[in-house]
Amino acid sequence: MVSFELEKYQHDIIEKYRDFTKRWIIPNRQKYDELSEFPWDIVKAAYDEKIINGSIPKEYGGNGFNIFDSSLASEELGYGCTGIGICIDASILALTPTFLAATEEQKKRIYGEMFEKKAVAAYALTEPNAGSDVAGIKSTALKKKDKYILNGHKRFITNAEVAEYITVFALADPERGARSLTAFIVKADTPGIEILPRLEKMGQRASVQNEIKFHDVEIPEENVLGREGMGFLIAMKTFDRTRTGVASAAVGNAQAAYDTALSWAKNRIQFGKPITANQAMAFLMADMSLEIEASRNIVWRAAWAYDTKQKNYSLLSAMSKLHATDMAMRVTTDAVQAMGGDGYSKEFPVEKMMRDAKLSQIYEGTNQIQRVVISKAILK
Ligand SMILES: Cc1cc2nc3c(=O)[nH]c(=O)nc-3n(C[C@H](O)[C@H](O)[C@H](O)COP(=O)(O)OP(=O)(O)OC[C@H]3O[C@@H](n4cnc5c(N)ncnc54)[C@H](O)[C@@H]3O)c2cc1C
Repeated sequence: MVSFELEKYQHDIIEKYRDFTKRWIIPNRQKYDELSEFPWDIVKAAYDEKIINGSIPKEYGGNGFNIFDSSLASEELGYGCTGIGICIDASILALTPTFLAATEEQKKRIYGEMFEKKAVAAYALTEPNAGSDVAGIKSTALKKKDKYILNGHKRFITNAEVAEYITVFALADPERGARSLTAFIVKADTPGIEILPRLEKMGQRASVQNEIKFHDVEIPEENVLGREGMGFLIAMKTFDRTRTGVASAAVGNAQAAYDTALSWAKNRIQFGKPITANQAMAFLMADMSLEIEASRNIVWRAAWAYDTKQKNYSLLSAMSKLHATDMAMRVTTDAVQAMGGDGYSKEFPVEKMMRDAKLSQIYEGTNQIQRVVISKAILK
């Protein structure tokens, strides 16, 4: 018998993250959206209340969440604000390569420092000419005695200006191209790292992005993750693990937009009755609730597949990201429409949720790239 019943500790996770979201994220989301500033106060509070880095194993100070637990947590953060949620969650994208390939010594050192300093990390894969096409990376890290010398240019890097650590992907041997791609964990204060001004953007504005230039940055060889040439595999395996997080945050965002629109619409009287008394509006609400539920189910299924090591976890992870983020775009757009002028106004949060939803269709692999992943898996 398949059970969809959550365990008691999972209900506790939901309750804990929901409570944090109510106290810290919802009251501050509009402010950070307007300021477009990294919400350090909220991130520090997340450390104090053990709301951050949940999937780091307990022995290193984390909560030991599996992917399913993490997706429950990300949905709650996404319900409050996907921008602030990413400020709390993006370090896990940066640290996932360490889950996959770090030595015991590296884990102790990196996680220890992250918790001690209440720090955040950045994941530096994308370059001006290597977005969807990761194999097009041109940054190099050439070995010189016991060091690597890193040169290159990264773009759109979340947390770059606030990070303690940056996980960087670069070619150890440009002649071998992507087969030499290697992952490094780099201290952000290493000489030669230039962080460019913050990206101005449409949504998820609490989260910050910058270009990074590396000028002869010396990386000690003990900061290689895994081995030289494992970078491409690490990058792809990272996304297999993290895409359900993007998907669950999108489910949370859509749920929040739907809840707002539903309660508004039930109380909005036009032509002498609530607008939901019109079947067109009632069916719109029905479709929104159906779509959210369907996405939540595929996210849970994908997370379960990852945790139980099913063969198709990569396919399901891509499907969950594609389904949930496209759904969130539709549902948040419908929420704006259902609320008429109020939906479009900054008096209500749904216009922000609609702007925020767009980004989820783009990062961690655009939704076209998810279709590439899915079609390759089903056609092979
Ligand atoms: C706010 C923000 C935060 C980000 N954070 C990070 C981060 O922390 N770390 C990081 O490394 N990167 C990050 N990114 C980068 C992000 O992952 C890329 O923007 C994304 O992968 C797309 O790359 P691109 O922008 O270069 O678009 P391109 O790859 O140039 O794509 C342009 C369009 O072409 C489509 N396309 C490309 N190739 C194909 C194909 N084969 N088939 C069909 N369609 C295709 C794409 O889907 C897209 O619609 C972030 C981006 C943004 C905007």
